[in-house]
Amino acid sequence: MRIDYVFKKIRDHITKGTLVSTLIKRTLRIEPVTKIINTLPYNSIYRRVVDREIIKFSRSPLSKSVSINIENTNACNANCIMCPRELMTRRIGYMDMELFKKIIDDIKKSNLSVKNICLNGFGEPLLDPLLPERIEYIKRELGCDVIFFTNGSLLCGEMAVQILNSGIDEINISLNGLGKEYERIMGGLSYKKISDNVKNFMKKRGELGLERPFVYISCVYIHKDFNKKQFLDEWKDIVDSIFITPAEKWSDSEDDIPYEELPYKFKEWPCKRLWENIWIAWDGKVHLCCKDYDGKMIMGDLKRESLSDIWFGNKFQNIRKLHQKNKFEQIPLCKGCGNLVDNSIQWW
Ligand code: SF4
Repeated sequence: MRIDYVFKKIRDHITKGTLVSTLIKRTLRIEPVTKIINTLPYNSIYRRVVDREIIKFSRSPLSKSVSINIENTNACNANCIMCPRELMTRRIGYMDMELFKKIIDDIKKSNLSVKNICLNGFGEPLLDPLLPERIEYIKRELGCDVIFFTNGSLLCGEMAVQILNSGIDEINISLNGLGKEYERIMGGLSYKKISDNVKNFMKKRGELGLERPFVYISCVYIHKDFNKKQFLDEWKDIVDSIFITPAEKWSDSEDDIPYEELPYKFKEWPCKRLWENIWIAWDGKVHLCCKDYDGKMIMGDLKRESLSDIWFGNKFQNIRKLHQKNKFEQIPLCKGCGNLVDNSIQWW
């Protein structure tokens, strides 16, 4: 792996927020940091930083780069215990290719600066036979980075070869545990099958002489005593990078998973995702954000409207204004969302 490519990936992750949000979750558990963040001087300086960024966006909306999620499908072949899919009431489906192309063409016309497109929502993207074709279309039309998250169970055979040849930049494999514990958490999947798939995929990438995709394993653990060292030892020589992070509580899910609570009560801040992340469901509806798994807050419909009209339109602007005024409780989905606290560092 070339060193300049590794630096690029680190830079991408810093801007994209994956690394940042992992670091933030850890940072917010370090006592001296929590003490600083909970002080008045920190809050008053930080308020200026947040406001400056928001004003910059209102003066020049196209100056801010965005990450875009496109849900190719919300069908899934697993039943992970920390996933809110079981609460989802919206229809299961696959994005129509014509609609997909319309959305990509919309993005092109919008002049938005796109950091990356993530072909994911609340489903397993590899269930979609059109996935390689969709990746190729984005690479051809937009040229931006394309990534997806997968449980890896279907990353094999002809599909794996097509994905490798599609131009995909990054694949993030969710592997939330080892052995039997993995199978308990990721209901319905076989640890051996996933391990073999990942190892064969990495081997094939090497045989084809490809530098991409960059392959991550992300492990979301649910128990405090999770053995991180054992996990790293098992995977560190196989993939390009590994993220281990505690499970996140979905704003309105009700279950008995022992989530790691933060040590202090933090002030809540405007959610940066409202300025940086666009989330599109398989049926063309734009949801408020990635937390809106059931489409409770539909901001627009790409079958009828353009992406620019939705992203810069009144619905999003009104929500942004409420956030700027810290009136989060007026938005049911945002009220109590863990991301508000993460934002006490994210705007720097
Ligand atoms: S606060 Fe939570 S629910 Fe509200 S926009 Fe941000 S991530 Fe979504």
